[in-house]
Amino acid sequence: MEKVTEIFGTMAFDERVMKAMLSEKVYKSLKRTIDKGEPLDTTVADAVAEAMKEWAVERGATHYTHWFQPMTGVTAEKHDSFISPAPDGRVIMEFSGKELIKGEPDASSFPSGGLRATFEARGYTAWDPTSYAFVKDGTLYIPTAFCSYGGEALDKKVPLLRSMDALNVQALRILKLFGTDASCVKTSVGPEQEYFLIPKELYDKREDLVMTGRTLFGAPAPKGQEMDDHYFGSIKPRVAEYMADLDRELWKLGILAKTKHNEVAPSQHELAPIYKTTNVAADHNQLTMEIMKRVAARHGLVCLLHEKPFKGVNGSGKHNNWSISTDKGENLLSPGKEPHDNVRFLLFLVAVIKAVDEYQDLLRLSVATAGNDHRLGANEAPPAVISVFLGDEIQSVLDSIENDAPYDSRKQSMMDLGARVLPSLRKDTTDRNRTSPFAFTGNKFEFRALGSSNSISCANIHLNAAVAESLRQFADVLEKADDFDHAVHHLIRETIKEHKRIIFNGNGYDDSWLEEAKKRGLSNYRTTVDCMPHICDSKNVEMLTRHGIFTEAEIYSRRDIMLENYVKTVNIEALTMIDMAKTQILPAVSAYAAKQAEGIVSVRKAVPEARCAYETRIVDRLSALSDEIDGAVADLTEREKEMSGISDIVAQSECVRDSLIPAMDRLRAFADEAETMTAKEYWPFPTYDKLLFGV
Ligand code: ADP
Ligand code: MG
Repeated sequence: MEKVTEIFGTMAFDERVMKAMLSEKVYKSLKRTIDKGEPLDTTVADAVAEAMKEWAVERGATHYTHWFQPMTGVTAEKHDSFISPAPDGRVIMEFSGKELIKGEPDASSFPSGGLRATFEARGYTAWDPTSYAFVKDGTLYIPTAFCSYGGEALDKKVPLLRSMDALNVQALRILKLFGTDASCVKTSVGPEQEYFLIPKELYDKREDLVMTGRTLFGAPAPKGQEMDDHYFGSIKPRVAEYMADLDRELWKLGILAKTKHNEVAPSQHELAPIYKTTNVAADHNQLTMEIMKRVAARHGLVCLLHEKPFKGVNGSGKHNNWSISTDKGENLLSPGKEPHDNVRFLLFLVAVIKAVDEYQDLLRLSVATAGNDHRLGANEAPPAVISVFLGDEIQSVLDSIENDAPYDSRKQSMMDLGARVLPSLRKDTTDRNRTSPFAFTGNKFEFRALGSSNSISCANIHLNAAVAESLRQFADVLEKADDFDHAVHHLIRETIKEHKRIIFNGNGYDDSWLEEAKKRGLSNYRTTVDCMPHICDSKNVEMLTRHGIFTEAEIYSRRDIMLENYVKTVNIEALTMIDMAKTQILPAVSAYAAKQAEGIVSVRKAVPEARCAYETRIVDRLSALSDEIDGAVADLTEREKEMSGISDIVAQSECVRDSLIPAMDRLRAFADEAETMTAKEYWPFPTYDKLLFGV
C-alpha cells in the first residue's frame, strides 16, 4: 500500500507544485495573493495556466472545468477539453491565462432569485487563486466564484470571500491599536461531517430515499440508539474499508481528513478534517461530500447526507469549528496563560458574543433548510434558539470584569484519574457542552446548528459579517480614545452587560431553557419559514450592505431562493409520499387484508365455530387504515395543488409549513401503523430494522 505522505496532495496543484513549476517571480506574485489576499496580478495568469495544464495532463487530464457553487447547494461544472486544432490536422493541448481567469457558463438555469432574467443569461466564473486547483476523473478542476453580468453574486463563494475581507479589514484596525504585528487576518474552519451508510440494494428499493434522500415512511425498529452502543463503537469491517478508501481519495486531493468514528445512531458515522482557511474549508467540504457518496458506490453502499434520514433516531449535522488568526499564526481566540489578563483575547471574545446576540436571526437562518428543520429543536441537536456557551473559567473572568471584582485565578487543575498507571491530565479550561448551538471550545467557537448537507458557506458568511460589525463598532470607539487601556476595559465591561443574555452555560436540551430564553428575549425560530424572511429586516440589510457582503438586491434574491428551495424540497416529498402510498402501500395493505379475510373464510369452512379473533381484528383495522390512508392521500393531494397555485413565495412557504407538512405527518402516521400490522413479506420496501442494521 502507498504511503500517506507519498499520496497526499498528488492530485492538487498546491504550493509544492507551484514552487517547482513556476518561475520565482510568478510564484511570489501568486503567493502574495494566496497568503495576504492581495489582488491577483493577471499578467501571471498565462504562466500559471501553462503550468497547470502541463501538470494536469501528466495526471491524465484531457479537460478543464470552472468549478463553482451556485445557490443549489451543490457544485456545478462544465467541462472543456484542452484540445486546439493544429494546422496539419493534429491537435495540441492548450490552456490560456484568459481561460483560467474567466469562464462564461450559460447561467440561465441556476437559481438567481430574480437577479438575472433568462434572456440575460450571462454569468461569469472567476478563478479563486486562494483555493488549489485539482485533478479528478481526467479533468482539471479550477475553483471559481460565480457572478452575473452586472457583478451580482450568484453563488456562495463570492459573499464568503467578501465576508472574510470585511472581517480582515475590521480586525486589522483593532490589532493596530494593540500594536500586534499582522498584515492579514483570516478565519479558519474545521467542519465535522456526519453521515449515514446503508446498503445500496436496500436504498434502491425505496422511492423516498432515491427521490428525497430520507425515509418518508417507516415504523421504528425494535432497537434504535437507546443502548448507546454505536457511538464511538468499534467500526465494522465493511465500514472500515469504506472509510480507509475515502481517506485515501481525500488525501490525494490534498484534503486533510483526520478523524473518523461511529456516531450516535446505528449506521451513522463522522469524518473531521484538520481546519483550513474558511474558503478552502468550504471547497473541501463540498468536495468531501461528493467523494463520500462516490466512494460509497464502490462499496455497494449509499452515503446519506440528509439531515434526517430516519425518524426516531438522531439526524446528521455539521459542526463548524471557527477561529480567527493572523498571518503570523496567532490565534486571536486563544486565551493566553492567564485569560483574565489577556485583554486582546477578551475583546475578540466579547466581539463574538455581541455578534451572536445582535445577529441571532442571521445565524439561525444561515442554517435553515427543510431538512435541518427536522433536527433543530428536536432532542438531538441544539435548539433553534441561538445561545453561546463559554464554560466556567471564561464565565468567571467575564463575571469579575462585569462586577469590577478581583478575579481569583484558579490554578489550572490536574485531573486525577485514580489509577496510578494513567498519566495526570491537564483539565481543559472549558468542559464540553454538546447541547449548545455555539460553544467556546478553548481556542475556537463551535457552531453546531449546521445541517449535514448544508454548504458551510452561508453560516460563515453571516458569522464573519456579524463579527466584522462588532469589531467595526469597537474600532470606532477605541481609535478615538485618549486612554486606550481604560477605554478597552470599559468597552469589554459594557459589552458583557449589554449582551450577556445570549450566554447560556446550562443544558440546551432542557425545556426550561426555552422558557428562560423567551424571558431573555432571545428569538426562537422553529422553521425555515419562520426565520428566512428576517434576512430582509432593516438591521440585517444595513449591516450586510455596509460591509459589502451583499447588495440589497442580493439579499432579497437569497431569501427567495432559500424559500423556493424549501418549498420545492417539501413538495417533492409530498408527491413522493402520494405516489408511494397509492402504488405501493395501499396495494400491499389491501392485499394482506384480503389474504387474511380469505383465511377467515377457509378456516370457518373447515371449522365453522372458529372465532378467528386475531384475523378478524387485523382485517378490520387494516381495512380501516386503508380508508384513512386513502383519505389522507386525497387530502394531501388537494393541499399540494392549492399550495402550488400560490404565487407569492413567502405565502407559499407558509402554506407548506401550515398545511402541507401536517398533512404529510397524518398520512405517515396511518401508513406506519399499517406497517406494524402487515406481514413483512407483504411490505413493499425494506423496513427500518434492515436499513439501520443492514451494513
Ligand atoms: P470534537 O468532536 O471534540 O468537537 P474533533 O476533533 O472531532 O472534535 O473536531 C474538531 C475540529 O475542530 C477539527 O476539524 C479541528 O481541525 C478543528 N479545529 C481545531 N482547532 C481549530 C481552530 N483553531 N480553528 C478552527 N478549527 C479548529
Ligand atoms: Mg465537535
